[in-house]
Amino acid sequence: MRSPVLAIIGGTGLEEFIDVGSRYFKETMFGTVNYVLGSISDVDILFIPRHGFKHENPPHKVLYKANIELISAHNISKVIAFSAVGSLRYDLKPGSIVIPNQLIDYSLHGETFYDFDSFHVDFTFPYCRDMGLKAYQVLRERGLDVKYGYTYVSTYGPRFESAGEIDMLRRMGADIVGMTNIPESVLAREAGLHYMLISIVSNYAAGMQDRVTSEEVYDVMASVKPKLKDILHILVEVFADFEPTDGCSSFRDVFRDFREVRRI
Ligand SMILES: [Zn+2]
Repeated sequence: MRSPVLAIIGGTGLEEFIDVGSRYFKETMFGTVNYVLGSISDVDILFIPRHGFKHENPPHKVLYKANIELISAHNISKVIAFSAVGSLRYDLKPGSIVIPNQLIDYSLHGETFYDFDSFHVDFTFPYCRDMGLKAYQVLRERGLDVKYGYTYVSTYGPRFESAGEIDMLRRMGADIVGMTNIPESVLAREAGLHYMLISIVSNYAAGMQDRVTSEEVYDVMASVKPKLKDILHILVEVFADFEPTDGCSSFRDVFRDFREVRRI
């Protein structure tokens, strides 16, 4: 088998877009990871279902470190992550696709690879700028309605937010809200990965509609599936040979040394 050149971290459902693939499990010091090695549009990829094959890991129990470590162990440098989000703005309707470029941590999750080392990554730009802008440009050229340049706020979950919290988070500058991008994006940066996010607006956040239900989230996600399939195929083709030149990878050597010492 050829080596995968891209990693995809997806929520539920994306696995069915893989053309050919086999499921694997691997034990790491951070837990047992589920993943697929396969191909999309003849590009070899590593696919990780963020919540497990059976959706058994809720947002606060996702094996974030194990997932990022697995990507790093495969020597993959580029990650396309997908996740459902709530919208804090009426102009970002359910079904919208957003590539955020900023991130606020309201989760206090605190998960890091550097629990025992005094090492601080730069997080001025939380997402890979080269991949995010390239994805936006290419998807627009192909006629897909995608938005770029919003701020994601991450909560701890698994409950949805209160109306009061959403009101506060909006005043803080947040546009979309989700439960997984902290610590996922932080760990990706610590590992020196180029990491970008495609977020799918599944509902308006608390206080903007009567109540938020999981059923509504699943319904919207089902309706955008054909569009997501197009996006996934286009991005895999574009990023297979794309080499970002921004600073995300400057932390990779430190992380490799760390892995060596910790014997992950
Ligand atoms: Zn980058």
